[in-house]
Amino acid sequence: MPLTRKIIHIDMDAFYASVEQRDFSEYRGKPVIVGGQPNSRGVVAACSYEARRFGIHSAMPSATAYRACPQAIFVKPRFEVYRQVSAEIQAIFRQFTSMVEPLSLDEAYLDVSECRLHSGSATLIAKQLKSDIKHMTGLIASAGVSYNKFLAKVASDMDKPDGLYVIKPEQGEEFVSQLPIRKFFGIGRATETKMHSLGIYTGTDLKTWSREALLARFGKVGNFYYSIARGIDKREVNSQRVRKSISAETTFTEDLSDVTEMLNQIKHLAEKVGNTLADKHLWAKTLIIKVKFDDFSQVTRSKTLECPFQSPALLEDDIKTLLESTEAGVRKVRLLGAGVSGLLHEDCMESSTQIALL
Ligand SMILES: [Mg+2]
Repeated sequence: MPLTRKIIHIDMDAFYASVEQRDFSEYRGKPVIVGGQPNSRGVVAACSYEARRFGIHSAMPSATAYRACPQAIFVKPRFEVYRQVSAEIQAIFRQFTSMVEPLSLDEAYLDVSECRLHSGSATLIAKQLKSDIKHMTGLIASAGVSYNKFLAKVASDMDKPDGLYVIKPEQGEEFVSQLPIRKFFGIGRATETKMHSLGIYTGTDLKTWSREALLARFGKVGNFYYSIARGIDKREVNSQRVRKSISAETTFTEDLSDVTEMLNQIKHLAEKVGNTLADKHLWAKTLIIKVKFDDFSQVTRSKTLECPFQSPALLEDDIKTLLESTEAGVRKVRLLGAGVSGLLHEDCMESSTQIALL
């Protein structure tokens, strides 16, 4: 592994709204708001740059957006289309590196440390990524280039839209020192307010705090703040994990003592989990069951399978074995849960793996 990583963060510009403007020429150059209706209680999911000029932003109540810009075009989101475009973009990423970590439909980290294109220049690779995305999908992306995830993410936001911003290793620490706390990715509103109340407004302020003081004030995440104040972020681009786990559980009005009934209940919960997996285009490697007894004590049992699966309810034998390894039936059960972990996005999987499992 090279000493310095090369990380690119790609963030599509006004993604949903841009897809709408791409597909409907009558929306182009106009304020477009995706999600919510003018007089409904909904919120704006995304909006075009033309709408942003009126102060509209995502998560704003649509009624407020309508007042700010009554001529805006409100459109219903077409998530199926966005997902499909997202898959196309991710396929482009994978032509450059297999180390791709999607954060959402329109954002991802790429580790291009091993990419030999353009003599390994991450800046030129980012440029090419942007132009390939434009060419293949007609959409504009902004890119942040740096030596770690934190700085790459901050960088992609510096020059939007159509941005390409580079923070070199020798510039990292100085860059962070100038950065206002509200621009620190990973520091939410509540923490921001807390930091302000402690007189921390910029990276420079943050850096005056010792690790011990940060840990005392913020808990474990203090370690992360201590590092990023120095331009250091050791988190790797994780091409495997999207979410950690998905689960469903149910509490019974009357405790169960019949094992067959318990198995049926777990199978039903596993079906729900399977639907969520399919919905999110995820596969899992580990099956989990949870049993809470009538005295509120609780155990979990898990099994990791050779091949990823998407229908945990079909793993009846494994469910049975896991349940039998608990005291269920001997003791009464008040709650059952089924879950999965070791999640993989289907885009990250070889098609052969899926076929082998089906
Ligand atoms: Mg975006």
